[in-house]
Amino acid sequence: MAPIALGQGFEYYSFMSKRGPKRLVTEAVRIGEYGNTSWHLVLECGHSFESKRKPKIGEDKLCCKECLIPKPKTLMQVFQDDGMLEEVDVMGELKTRATLASHFKVSMDQVELVGGTATVFLDAQQVRRITTD
Ligand SMILES: [Zn+2]
Repeated sequence: MAPIALGQGFEYYSFMSKRGPKRLVTEAVRIGEYGNTSWHLVLECGHSFESKRKPKIGEDKLCCKECLIPKPKTLMQVFQDDGMLEEVDVMGELKTRATLASHFKVSMDQVELVGGTATVFLDAQQVRRITTD
């Protein structure tokens, strides 16, 4: 699933102009000293860059080159894009992992859950404790 979603993302980016899509300025912070100031702008897409020109927040739209650079998506984003988030019961998985972790008296990091199959990683001491219980 992930490679397909990444491919689609790349296609989407290549369709856009080289200057980048226009993004609304949502925040601006003045930086530098008097006579040599610039503006740190935050765009609606979450990207930011510096500009010499004073922006009009909520009015100016600037081309965002950052948006042209495809970024590897996290698994959560891929699920979100595909509308598959509902099918992944994150809370349910966390609960299962927590239950297993407390059962084996290990930390949750030591419990891996993939496709409903759990793997519990135990160190030598924990193995001894469990097998001699
Ligand atoms: Zn951007």
